[in-house]
Amino acid sequence: MSVEFEYWWLLALPLFFTLGWIAARVDIKQLISESTTLPAAYFKGLNFLISDQHHKAVEAFTEAININNDSLELHFALGSLFRRTGETDRAIHLHLNLLEKKELTEPQKNAVKAELAQDYLKAGLFDRAEELFKGLDDTRYRQPALRSLLEIYVREREWSQAIAMATELERLSGVPFRKEIAQYYCELAMNAIIAEENATAKELLSEALEANKTCVRANVLLGDIEAKSGSHNAAISYWKRIEFQQPEFLGLVANKMLKSYAAAGNTGLKDGLAQLEYYLETYQLPSLVTVLYEATLAQEGAEAAAKLARNELIRKPNLKVLDQLLQARAMVNDNQQDIQLMQQTVRNAIGDRAAYHCNQCGFRAKQYHWQCPACNAWESLPSEPSEATVRDIKLINRK
Ligand SMILES: [Zn+2]
Repeated sequence: MSVEFEYWWLLALPLFFTLGWIAARVDIKQLISESTTLPAAYFKGLNFLISDQHHKAVEAFTEAININNDSLELHFALGSLFRRTGETDRAIHLHLNLLEKKELTEPQKNAVKAELAQDYLKAGLFDRAEELFKGLDDTRYRQPALRSLLEIYVREREWSQAIAMATELERLSGVPFRKEIAQYYCELAMNAIIAEENATAKELLSEALEANKTCVRANVLLGDIEAKSGSHNAAISYWKRIEFQQPEFLGLVANKMLKSYAAAGNTGLKDGLAQLEYYLETYQLPSLVTVLYEATLAQEGAEAAAKLARNELIRKPNLKVLDQLLQARAMVNDNQQDIQLMQQTVRNAIGDRAAYHCNQCGFRAKQYHWQCPACNAWESLPSEPSEATVRDIKLINRK
């Protein structure tokens, strides 16, 4: 039985090959007939594109359009090339011409408008870009248009509009924008704080927490508002919530927290120091060491500060803490000159290279930013500055 079956199978094989060959011939024929309608200059242009010779590609595509002026795709290819080579005025001219001269169907008009809107965006003509993007109600262009509109509103710091766009994008695409939306609310709250409209600011910040319950910045700002109006206990309770959001950010409020504890009176400062010691014990954040060291030095003197630095060094070697230990030692020790020399050497080694490194683009910032100043990403800076020395060594080892 089985032998017979295999025999028939073998007979069928050449038949399949023949059929496949015919099918391939038909495909190739079709391809050739289609491609002959495209001028050779088009393929020349493609070759230049592949080898990154954009200006030569522009020449070739222009030539192709002169031969075949009917192809919208050719116009779009040339227009996008213009944008990429920074010749946005030529791209705008090209697409405006298409809209004026050509007899286009409604979907084609939309396609040209989508291209033109990109030209305006690239040229920084945000008002015109915005108007066009808003008019693109064709579902095919809706999501990219919303993305571009969001980009425009963030650049122009129009946060209410940005919230609306991000919410709509989230609904259409299913991609979450919670982190960004919370930050837009925080930006609005910042404006309200500057305008001394605290009630509005607080409402906006609770919206931020509604959008993203781990939004640390909202609690930082809520605490700031309370501290500024003298309600230090309320401020402290907001900042304490950060521990249950993202405890690695506690270093951002450590100093303020201590000040509010001190301002609250009674055993305030002592409680504050105990609270920070608990945070340091639990989360081991380097920035807490600095705040605690300074406070201990001011409150309890050099001996206590030296002890704190020494304990920290035993736990984890760190040049900054060594610098602090040497400083405290210099205050209590007779060999001041030697110790100051050592301290100077350590400071030279550290330099002022400790910085926050953006995890999206690598930008180095001395201060913490919620939005990277270089690439505009939100919350892309780490919660603690990294010591460049350690990082550099790692980089060198990797090479
Ligand atoms: Zn960045």
